[in-house]
Amino acid sequence: MTLYRRMAPVIALALLLGQSAWHCAWAEGPGGPAKKLARSACDHAAFRVVVDVGHTAESPGAPSARGFWEYDFNLRLATLVKQKLLAAGFAKTVLLVTDGPARKSLFARVARANQLSADLFLSIHHDSVPDSFLERWEYEGHERGFSDRFKGHSIFFSNENVDPDASLMFGQLLGEQLQARGLQYTPHYIEKFMGHRQRLLVDAKVGVYRYDQLIVLRTTQMPAVLLEAGSIINRGEELVMNSPERQSLIGAAVTDAVEGFCAIRRPRTPDRVAGPPRAAAKLAPDVAPQPASPAGAQ
Ligand SMILES: [Zn+2]
Repeated sequence: MTLYRRMAPVIALALLLGQSAWHCAWAEGPGGPAKKLARSACDHAAFRVVVDVGHTAESPGAPSARGFWEYDFNLRLATLVKQKLLAAGFAKTVLLVTDGPARKSLFARVARANQLSADLFLSIHHDSVPDSFLERWEYEGHERGFSDRFKGHSIFFSNENVDPDASLMFGQLLGEQLQARGLQYTPHYIEKFMGHRQRLLVDAKVGVYRYDQLIVLRTTQMPAVLLEAGSIINRGEELVMNSPERQSLIGAAVTDAVEGFCAIRRPRTPDRVAGPPRAAAKLAPDVAPQPASPAGAQ
């Protein structure tokens, strides 16, 4: 309850600034509600999704509470997501695995996605916490860091993406699908204690944050979203994220969200999104600038 009270002004702001307006923008087009449009209008065979595996084998992201690397979680989940998309008919889906040092790999993965003329870019990550939150415990004879304070997924888009409206829209579709499967997003990115990792919660209903500086979201020439699928520094959630059931649930949510998005967007054709242009740009133009290389997400 305390957390909710602290969140309330931000939620109200997000609602006021346009969450509901944006939902209306795409939910009602000339052909009626978007859900009805969805199943018939998506050209699965032509629509290309790039599923990006966050981090690299050489620079594997954050360790989990039990000392396993984020990259391995990302690779497992992204591979399953790709399989689900292929099974749903999205035959052009590409799993993007990048190697090398962290920052260099960011530009490499963006270049690859741009080269592939993808219609949608989804980067898969698993969350950690700032070092100051870490507590110590022993697991199988080794001392490890953990924090059970936060759990849940979070979704990020950049207002500097070539198509921020569509990026936000896909983020919302994904958030809705995760929510429909009983999964809750983590609201802690709005908190002051997150420091330079603090984000603007643009959709407080389904957990979509704005994170303009992320390279993979800002320089991709297509709508782009980053999913932190869950917190692996949380000892309980790490186990859950390892389970085939949770991975399958997230894979299904992504696939349904892509279905809905594809139906509205159609492959590589600009300006097919219903609603007023640049809606997301009006949401919060004066968000405080954020540093270029935060830990955790990239
Ligand atoms: Zn990451």
